[in-house]
Amino acid sequence: MNCLEFRRQLGVDPQSSAADFISHRQECARCAEATARAVEFEAALRRALNVAPSTHLAESILLAQATRQQRGRQTWLRRGGLLALAATLVVAVGIGMRVEASPLSAQAVEHLRGEPEALTLSQAVPPESVREAFATRGIALKHDISGEVVFVGRCPMGSHLTVHMVMPGNTGPVTVIYVVDDRVKQREDFQREGWRGRSVPLGSGTLILLARDGGQFDGIEAQWRTAVQG
Ligand SMILES: [Zn+2]
Ligand SMILES: [Zn+2]
Repeated sequence: MNCLEFRRQLGVDPQSSAADFISHRQECARCAEATARAVEFEAALRRALNVAPSTHLAESILLAQATRQQRGRQTWLRRGGLLALAATLVVAVGIGMRVEASPLSAQAVEHLRGEPEALTLSQAVPPESVREAFATRGIALKHDISGEVVFVGRCPMGSHLTVHMVMPGNTGPVTVIYVVDDRVKQREDFQREGWRGRSVPLGSGTLILLARDGGQFDGIEAQWRTAVQG
């Protein structure tokens, strides 16, 4: 699936679970970003309008925009559509800005909330799967990680590409999200929504650790430094 086909499908169903749709979203940051916005956009419209959800809402708006461009302003003014369009665009722009402004730590916690099942897994994934996930993100790991990994996903997170992993710690699972394309300025610990977190500039990206108990962070951070930097 190429970007054009993806965007077409996105207009029809942003939540599509088709395999080629999902795999393109995992590989293409721009389309991942477009998906995040489309999903947020529909949700916000539903909240704002408080009407029964229509899965074709985004498509209708895009179609309306296209129609307007083709037929010119007057038609739209007569049909009273311009006001509605303006209102929805204001919402869209507002959401876009909020997504961009939210720090990686907040995006990571939100991502975690969206995939609670990742924290319930216990079967180790082979080291090749971890290497492979990084390789598809253009990163060759210098070493395999010494600790066990029970989940590895190539997840888009907002507009970012990541490798999302879970390591079962002695005091509960530790979520490890490597954000490939954004490097925070400094290493810092944070707390958010009951989670302990740490973000670490590492290589050209950012390593984010999340757990209920941050006591395991030092050891896991050291492992990932070795894996990424050698
Ligand atoms: Zn694409
Ligand atoms: Zn994920």
